Amino acid sequence: MSVSYETIECERCGYAETSLVTAGKFVWSDGSEEYWFSRQLAVCKNCECVVAMEEFPEPAVLAEARKRLGSYWRKLTRNYGVDDVGMMARSKGLAVAEKVIALQRKPVCLSCGSANVAPLVTPDDGGSDDTRIRSLGIQHPGCGGMLTIYGSGGDRAAPLEVTRIYDLHGRQIGTRPGW
Ligand SMILES: [Zn+2]
Ligand SMILES: [Zn+2]
Repeated sequence: MSVSYETIECERCGYAETSLVTAGKFVWSDGSEEYWFSRQLAVCKNCECVVAMEEFPEPAVLAEARKRLGSYWRKLTRNYGVDDVGMMARSKGLAVAEKVIALQRKPVCLSCGSANVAPLVTPDDGGSDDTRIRSLGIQHPGCGGMLTIYGSGGDRAAPLEVTRIYDLHGRQIGTRPGW
């Protein structure tokens, strides 16, 4: 599978990274079950890099998904619904996501596990189709140069098919090939 992507570059030092750091499958594991969680593009002050950062499910959505998993709801509707909640109720390891939310911790950098990380809000325009170089208005940590972003246009890349496994605190505990 190939995807279009964006490149983030530092104007001062030439550092470059792509949005492909968020590609692939990221799961939380409690040792028995896994939950496939979302991640977002971010800048980590600890890594001084563009990284993938955890994105927590909304507690209200999680609670509703748990409700639909109950036998009463299933008997009533015979499915979980086609909205976000239904998708979540169908996903495995809901209990794992609930454990992560119960910790009430901040989302962390998926490279180093630090909470010193901020989502990289990309300009709302053409995304990876937009090949113009735009300023992100964010400094490259440790360097001070401004970060810019541009889309790959028609260029596509095939990310490594790997599943990254994290504990409930967002610390990486392993990887395995495949999604
Ligand atoms: Zn730099
Ligand atoms: Zn980091």
